[in-house]
Amino acid sequence: MTNIYLTPERLELQARAREVAMTEVLPVADKLDPRGEDIPDTLIERLAAEGYFGIRVPTEHGGLGLGVFEYALVTEELSRAWMSVPSLMARANGFGCQVTDPERRAELLRRSARGEWIGAFAASEPGAGSDLAGVACRAKRDGDHWVLNGEKRWTGNVVRAHFIVLVARERDPEPGEHRAAGLVALLIEKEPGTLPEGMTATPIDKIGYHGITTYQLRLDDVRVPLAANTEGNAFAEVVQGLNVARVHTAARAVGLARGALEDSREYLRERRQFDRPLASFQALRFALADMAADIEAARALTYQAAHALDTGDETATLPSMCKLVATEMAVRVTNQAMQLHGGNGYTTERRVERYWRDARLTTIFEGTSEIQRTLIADDLLGRKR
Ligand SMILES: Cc1cc2nc3c(=O)[nH]c(=O)nc-3n(C[C@H](O)[C@H](O)[C@H](O)COP(=O)(O)OP(=O)(O)OC[C@H]3O[C@@H](n4cnc5c(N)ncnc54)[C@H](O)[C@@H]3O)c2cc1C
Repeated sequence: MTNIYLTPERLELQARAREVAMTEVLPVADKLDPRGEDIPDTLIERLAAEGYFGIRVPTEHGGLGLGVFEYALVTEELSRAWMSVPSLMARANGFGCQVTDPERRAELLRRSARGEWIGAFAASEPGAGSDLAGVACRAKRDGDHWVLNGEKRWTGNVVRAHFIVLVARERDPEPGEHRAAGLVALLIEKEPGTLPEGMTATPIDKIGYHGITTYQLRLDDVRVPLAANTEGNAFAEVVQGLNVARVHTAARAVGLARGALEDSREYLRERRQFDRPLASFQALRFALADMAADIEAARALTYQAAHALDTGDETATLPSMCKLVATEMAVRVTNQAMQLHGGNGYTTERRVERYWRDARLTTIFEGTSEIQRTLIADDLLGRKR
């Protein structure tokens, strides 16, 4: 389909990602997701060879040197197969490379692009979800170390990770200061398969989003060298990264909704009732048409938001809008897809149940739909946060 954003280079990247998704990711997802298993190392190595962990890493550091748009394009394709795969991609692509020493930063970016520096993000806590400024985990300076105490919830990939970016509170806000004042984002280096001394991780039994194990963390006097970390603006960088994360989540939602649509189209053709294929019943044809139109509208908004970020327009609430529209769309579309599959949709024999479970998460994580609406309404009404 012609689209002003889709240059020949982007179409090529998209076609390649589609091939990788359908031939290499989908079979692995079909096998491992129903068993709740993690994305295997062999698949991570394949994705690294394609450069997907370094799409946004500059070429001089071994990345593809591309923008948010290309990142979203690849994300949609991979999510069509397994949403957890681009979620892992987001834990590389320059994430956890914000150190002050230029040589060290260059080394981390190189490792990030190669898929050898994949992290975990520990912001949420049992008492701090939508209200990120409510983080209570304490970071206290002790000589040349930070000492961390508290709890974290929903930290995905933490055991396998090479590092953790952890948001903690160094001090309480002064009267009149923003509630986020005193928060710091710390980089905790670790060996994959291990945890720092004083940190324990308990897996959370989720209903979907398999492929990445999610944990609740407890921190008792965890010591982190001061020198490894950025000072001052690390939390601001985390917040800035949320705009890209919102576009990325919108692309994930579009991808898995497309999976549900494509599988439904096949099912309507193959399944017969009343001596006719389901595809001949107008009610079902119309449902399929509505699904396709819904997906295309969400994709258009996602492209627009990605383009805005690539061209330096950080002022609008387009990332929130596309996150809201695409994820709510994915819930509707995957729900309809399950209906079109009848009883077979309600089994693990068909992929539609995976799309349906994963879609349900997209309106919750990376800022809930209510939080996106709050941001959009604040912008419309000129309210300061
Ligand atoms: C599977 C999974 C993976 C995750 N991965 C990570 C991760 O890797 N790292 C990480 O740090 N976090 C992660 N999260 C956390 C995720 O970002 C939070 O779940 C999300 O921000 C919502 O917070 P909450 O669950 O505490 O819900 P709450 O904030 O308690 O919200 C409950 C309900 O209240 C609504 N609500 C809250 N405040 C308001 C308000 N002001 N106005 C209107 N409605 C409101 C919400 O929209 C929601 O409907 C993950 C979560 C899940 C479920």
